[in-house]
Amino acid sequence: MTELYELLEVETTATATEIKKAYRKLALRYHPDKVGEDEREEAELKFKEFSHAYEVLIDEDRRKEYDTYGTTDGRPSYTEFPGGNPFDNFYGGAQNAYDANDFHNFFNGTPGGAPRRPQTKPRTEDAELEVTVTLEDLFRGKVIKSTSTRNIICTTCKGSGARKNAAMKPCGICEGSGTVRKIRRVGPGLVTQDYIECNTCHGVGKIFRAKDTCKKCSGKRTIEETKILEFEIPRGARSGETVVLTGESDQYPGKETGDIVMTFHCKDHAVFERRGDDLYAKYRIPLADALCGFSKVLFKHLDGRGVKVTTPRGKVIRSGDYIKLKDEGMPVKEEGSSWFSRGNKRGDLYIEMDIEFPPDNWYLEKNDLLKIKNLLPTELSSKRDIEKQTVDRDSIPEENIEEFIDFSIARGNALPEYPEEKKTNEQDEYQDYYEDYGAYGGAQPECTQQ
Ligand SMILES: [Zn+2]
Ligand SMILES: [Zn+2]
Repeated sequence: MTELYELLEVETTATATEIKKAYRKLALRYHPDKVGEDEREEAELKFKEFSHAYEVLIDEDRRKEYDTYGTTDGRPSYTEFPGGNPFDNFYGGAQNAYDANDFHNFFNGTPGGAPRRPQTKPRTEDAELEVTVTLEDLFRGKVIKSTSTRNIICTTCKGSGARKNAAMKPCGICEGSGTVRKIRRVGPGLVTQDYIECNTCHGVGKIFRAKDTCKKCSGKRTIEETKILEFEIPRGARSGETVVLTGESDQYPGKETGDIVMTFHCKDHAVFERRGDDLYAKYRIPLADALCGFSKVLFKHLDGRGVKVTTPRGKVIRSGDYIKLKDEGMPVKEEGSSWFSRGNKRGDLYIEMDIEFPPDNWYLEKNDLLKIKNLLPTELSSKRDIEKQTVDRDSIPEENIEEFIDFSIARGNALPEYPEEKKTNEQDEYQDYYEDYGAYGGAQPECTQQ
């Protein structure tokens, strides 16, 4: 019947004080902060074992039972302690994340001594605010003004809540410290003490007579302040970004003041879509413009200018072409720049050209068809295409040719869907690609306008 003693690394004759001491030593050795990530699991198991041993041996009755029978059946085991499994607190329990200070307080705390104030200064809550902006706003930069009503420390009593020269005496509840001690259990036999603000003196540590209450804040220590805040959205900022006004949230005596965080979201624009710092727009032109060229104001830019595009003589616009206007995109936001600083870098503007073909039977006279056919090229330009499409008529007898005039048109986006087929030979695909376009920088079907 020595197993539990061995776990705690004490003699079977150990006193309660020695057992406590041994437990603390082990708890420190297997503390989550002291073991590497890879040793955690083992440490946790070890921790459970020696904690169980401690729970048994520190309880006089259970220790006697264990010494006599080698078991403590029927007794609550460590997993049945109030508050659930106490080890949750040690090894990343979700509801009560382990705080390294708990250990510090337990071992180094001075119970009964002078209460210590928490080391990190508490902070008032950040205020959050969401606004909707337009793409024009983000293009030009914008200052958003907002009326803010917040609590500030009373200007008359400077946050004490009392009149000037009021007779103050130490608060009896917290003994003038402003904080009271609260015991919290963090593990088996482990408690820690938190210090929370004293309710009686509201953390001041002093109390005063009712007639000495500050008239301005009625003893609340804070007063309301209304002012106009300015949020600067820099040029080129992106939807979802934030502007932070530091220390503009509520004030409270003894607390650091939180921030106001404004998040702005951009509405969809009727003409432009933003991608990174570039802008995209779609423009539809009739086939005649695509073939013969055009000169027209396509739209109003985000800064109010009209964007007029004149195609050079002879230029043909093809479906899927983008007209790229360099440096006509969004301003590129420079880090640390504010809305009025004028960085000149801009993204580009891409105008996707969509060509509308005329409807069936578009011509007025039959002769028109002939005229246009005579004007337009009737031969394909690529010899390869011609060769590929030339049918050896000699191999097909005349009576074997069937003519189709009653067909329907299926649009590419309305074709039937098929289950994905596995590619059997990838090599073949590359082969086709090189044959079509010529390997390694051969003639590419490209039409860029410079
Ligand atoms: Zn006041
Ligand atoms: Zn108090």
